[in-house]
Amino acid sequence: MKFALVTGGSRGIGKAVCIRLASMGYHVLINYRSNEAEALQTLALVKEKGVEGEIIRFDVADKEQIIATLGGWMEANPDKTIEVLVNNAGIRDDGLMMWMKDEQWNRVIDTSLGGFFYVTRLVVNSMLMKKKGRIINIVSLSGLKGMAGQTNYSAAKAGVIGATKALAQEIARKGITVNAVAPGFIKTDMTSDLNENELKAMIPVKRFGTPEEVASTVGFLASEGASYITGEVISVNGGLYS
Ligand code: NAP
Repeated sequence: MKFALVTGGSRGIGKAVCIRLASMGYHVLINYRSNEAEALQTLALVKEKGVEGEIIRFDVADKEQIIATLGGWMEANPDKTIEVLVNNAGIRDDGLMMWMKDEQWNRVIDTSLGGFFYVTRLVVNSMLMKKKGRIINIVSLSGLKGMAGQTNYSAAKAGVIGATKALAQEIARKGITVNAVAPGFIKTDMTSDLNENELKAMIPVKRFGTPEEVASTVGFLASEGASYITGEVISVNGGLYS
C-alpha cells in the first residue's frame, strides 16, 4: 500500500488533493483541526475511489500535537511509509500591518511555516530511509508577489517557498523531490468573503480557479512523470502573475 498525508485535507484544496491522490491509488491520511464532519465526508469520497483512508486529527500549529499524533501513528505503523506529503493546511487573518496584533501574526506564521517545519521534519526521516518521497507545499501568489493587508500570510508563504528550495537541495540525491504549488484565487471557504465578480476582471482567465485544478498539479508532482522536478514553484493562478 502507498501512503499519502494531506494536512488540512478536510475542506477546499486539501479535500480535492485527497480525492486526487486516492484516484492514484494512495491510502490517504486526512488531517484536519476542527471540522470533523467535513473530514468524514472527505474520507467517504476517498473510499469511493476504491482505496482506504483514515482521519488523523492534529493542529499543524502545535508541535506537541504533531509529535504525539503523527509521531504516534508512525511509531504504531513502522511498516508503513508516507511516500507523499502535502503540506496544505493554512489560514489567513488579514489586516494592515500597522494594526496587526501579535496573535494575528503568530497564528498565520505558526500554521503555514511552523506546520511545514514540524510535520515535514517528522515525515522526511522515514522517506530518507526508504530513499523515496514527494513533498508538495501549497503556498500562494501572496508569497511570490506580496499582497497588501497580508504581511503575515505573505511572509509565511514566502518562508515556505524558501524552505522548499533549500530542502529540495538537501535531499535531492536521496530520491525525494520537494516542490511548491502557488494558487491564485481559488473557490473555497477561504475566499468565500471575496467578490469574484469584481476580482475576476484582473484575472486573465476571467474566473476563480477550482480546488480540482490545484489538485491536478499536485497529482502531477506526486506522479512518476515529475521525478526530475525539484525545488520548483508552480503557479496555478489563471495567468494572474508568474
Ligand atoms: P480552506 O477551505 O479554509 O480549508 C483549510 C483547511 O486547512 C481545512 O481542512 C482546515 O481544517 C485545515 N486547517 C486549517 N488550520 C489548520 C491547522 N492549524 N491544523 C490542521 N488543519 C488546519 O482553505 P483552502 O482555500 O482550501 O486553502 C488550502 C491551502 O491553500 C492553504 O494553505 C491556503 O493558504 C492555500 N491557498 C489558498 C488559496 C485560495 O484562493 N483558496 C490561494 C492560495 C493559497 P478544518 O476543517 O478542521 O478547519
